[in-house]
Amino acid sequence: MSGGDNLDFEIRPNPAPVSDADRSALLANPGFGRIFTDHMVTVRYADGKGWYEPLVAARAPIPMDPASAVLHYAQEIFEGLKAYTLPDGGVAMFRPDANAARFNQSAARMAMPALPVETFLQSLHEIIRVDRDWIPSDPEGSLYLRPFAYASEVFLGVRPATEYLYLVIASPVGPYFSGGVKPVSIWVSPDFTRAAPGGTGAAKCGGNYAAGLSAQAEAAEHGCDQVVYLDAVERKYIDELGGMNVFLVLDDGTLVTPPLTGTILPGITRDSVIKLAQKAGRRVEERPISLDEWREGAASGRVREAFACGTAAVITPIGVIKGESGDFTVGDGGPGEVTMAIRQELVDIQRGRAEDPFGWVH
Ligand code: PMP
Repeated sequence: MSGGDNLDFEIRPNPAPVSDADRSALLANPGFGRIFTDHMVTVRYADGKGWYEPLVAARAPIPMDPASAVLHYAQEIFEGLKAYTLPDGGVAMFRPDANAARFNQSAARMAMPALPVETFLQSLHEIIRVDRDWIPSDPEGSLYLRPFAYASEVFLGVRPATEYLYLVIASPVGPYFSGGVKPVSIWVSPDFTRAAPGGTGAAKCGGNYAAGLSAQAEAAEHGCDQVVYLDAVERKYIDELGGMNVFLVLDDGTLVTPPLTGTILPGITRDSVIKLAQKAGRRVEERPISLDEWREGAASGRVREAFACGTAAVITPIGVIKGESGDFTVGDGGPGEVTMAIRQELVDIQRGRAEDPFGWVH
């Protein structure tokens, strides 16, 4: 990597890393987001000084003053992506430059300073380098990387902070679907919306997820795996799930997905699905989808399949949709043919088993 924005990371190896035996035991069944590697990245920011003290050191609690701005006004953003082993033994990430770009779009929305793309990418390389042994050897497992930044200034005034901390932590994760790909059931939230026009829906800020917890609990009460949000204005159109974007597959093979109008997160998987489908000559429509269109299309056969997509599960078929206006099933409720073909194509590119036509694998 080159460029004037490059920071020189200081590496302070963890003096007491997890033993090889303990690490192997942890990696045998990592689950999601519960175990962490030996190191973390930190980079500080102050107005007038810019980003400074780039450091890789032992993962440890962060001392935090009770008046740190983030604890009061939630000025915080994050990203999520995976590092995994390729068949040739190399380590790869999928489109990390897209995560860097989205991180800065989130930063702009939350009145936070941009982090140079080079620094973002380098921070990922650094943690992968020191914690490489934490990447699960399971070909479907990965090292989940969580870059995030928050307002660390000690000040209770409501205005953009003048000091921030950027961090990267890493967590080994097992395969998302251990018993084969399984469709999810989704709950159409009648009470809660996720994002209004002009709001923060397109930013990956912690507050969006806090606001979604009640809706997710409501989904669980109704026996559903996930929530699907309707638009906040008319309560008529599909926005997205709590952590995934949505696609419908029509009977003529067309893919339809809600447009990026600021109320949904611009998913990197979403963008990848669109680009691959278009390249294969498939029609893709980015346009509003009403719940009525979905329900009626499922009944008439016009809507053949539905799936959700995001980094964690890549592509997840949607089986049953439940809500106050009645339940319905897409297709036969099982994983659709087009859904599974797109899933396979994308996973094969990510895992280095197929040609990478867009140069996405780093
Ligand atoms: N929507 C939301 C709200 C999300 O949290 C995520 C996960 N980042 C996505 C969509 C999917 O985005 P991506 O494909 O970049 O993981």
